[in-house]
Amino acid sequence: WSSETVAVVTGANRGIGFEIARQLAGHGLTVVLTARDATVGLEAVKVLQEGGLNVEFHKLDVLDDASIKEFCEWIQNSYGGVHILVNNAGVNYNLGSDNSVEYAKMVVATNYHGTKNMIEAMIPLMSPSSTGARIVNVSSRLGRLNGRRNRIGDETLRHQLSDLDTLSEELIDTMVANFLQQVEDGTWTSGGWPQTFTDYSVSKLAVNAYTRIMAKKLSDRPDGQKIYINCYCPGWVKTAMTGWSGNVSTEDAADTGVWLSLLPDQAITGKFFAERREISF
Ligand code: NDP
Repeated sequence: WSSETVAVVTGANRGIGFEIARQLAGHGLTVVLTARDATVGLEAVKVLQEGGLNVEFHKLDVLDDASIKEFCEWIQNSYGGVHILVNNAGVNYNLGSDNSVEYAKMVVATNYHGTKNMIEAMIPLMSPSSTGARIVNVSSRLGRLNGRRNRIGDETLRHQLSDLDTLSEELIDTMVANFLQQVEDGTWTSGGWPQTFTDYSVSKLAVNAYTRIMAKKLSDRPDGQKIYINCYCPGWVKTAMTGWSGNVSTEDAADTGVWLSLLPDQAITGKFFAERREISF
């Protein structure tokens, strides 16, 4: 890897995203650290630059289509493309006392639609390379489809989501739309949704399913234009999101994301990882 390799990290002003940016830059890459708030983003970049790392800031709000568009134009003009995209930006309000309809909408919009919109916008900018471009989605075991705990109760839907032949973007979009409709109606408690961190779990389940769909979609790209896409769970991490109650450091949480970003050409794609090991969806 060299400074010619360009990596973009979303929501990188703090927490796991900041650490992923730091570690990628530590491998000699050029890292574009993005944040929705320019003041904190520039402060984060300054810290890394003072440590001698090759990091640049650009503002990016994954909830804002205009911001994504402007970012892509800037990337095109500044670098011509990117090799690595880490979709890390995310929100979770389940630790607070107020689980409102607005929060559920925000969680799904940021974690799922934000990730999806970024991927769709960035794919045309993913630079060809001999080792393939990489997309890494920071997800969560809470969104596991067939986990023993916290899985969705609707068996038919679970099967449809499990099977790559029946899994589709439409299915995922319909699932999250139905979920939000039930939240709005106040009927979600009988809808068979995950019991813990419900909206967050649904959003990450959607990210995981979308990762598999995209891996399939991208699989027929010719050599030299390959894009590999995977997702991972960083564990329960000591960041603002958990009120710093996690038991995993940001350094360890970033590790698998950085490893997936830099994997040599092994054509690993459409998989879910934790601690550098593949786990089941
Ligand atoms: P933090 O809350 O520390 O960081 C989240 C980052 O996402 C912040 O930089 C935040 O920006 C940014 N963000 C939120 N909304 C947007 C948006 N619309 N556009 C751009 N950036 C946005 O949390 P973590 O570092 O813990 O979380 C990082 C990722 O890891 C998330 O996807 C999270 O779901 C995932 N994860 C975390 C776990 C944990 O235990 N912490 C466990 C499993 C997964 P701002 O500072 O402006 O709010």
